[in-house]
Amino acid sequence: MRDAIDVAGFWAGFRLIETRPLSDTQTLLRLEADPRVDPLCGRCLAPCGLIHERLVRRIRERDLFDKQAWLEVPLRRVVCLTCGVSTEHVPWLPSRSRLTARLIAHVEALLGLLPLRHISRLTGLHWHTLRTVDARRLAREVQPPDLSQVRRLIMDEFALSKAIATPRSPSVPIPNRCCG
Ligand SMILES: [Zn+2]
Repeated sequence: MRDAIDVAGFWAGFRLIETRPLSDTQTLLRLEADPRVDPLCGRCLAPCGLIHERLVRRIRERDLFDKQAWLEVPLRRVVCLTCGVSTEHVPWLPSRSRLTARLIAHVEALLGLLPLRHISRLTGLHWHTLRTVDARRLAREVQPPDLSQVRRLIMDEFALSKAIATPRSPSVPIPNRCCG
């Protein structure tokens, strides 16, 4: 099983060295850096042989059958002659992310189909994490509206009634309603 996963090459630049259960529903997969592959600078992507330090990070991966999959990844902080010290570039792990690119792509596909609450129950990911993934997806895919020709803003009366019926912050003024 372990060899089959490793051969599939899911985690370029790393090798799977151990799998063990964390609980009835979670599995941990421990990776190690492949010594045949030089780490890349996280800024300029140049190969770097000098290692400043190593940090072990837990990353969520897409589920493995009926188990939530967690990766334990030893990330290297490398010394680049151009950029200085940076965390290595890992092609399947976005910078500073605790989710793999594969899991993010899966969540983004679900975001177009289901409400956040359902995706949270399906994946076990926190609602705030899903909101962050969705905001990045929208920033990438949706063009900001052209407001250059806008002359008036019109308020939805249903939303206005809702705002009046609920306690409001004194810093948010409610405009006068027209009773004609
Ligand atoms: Zn660099």
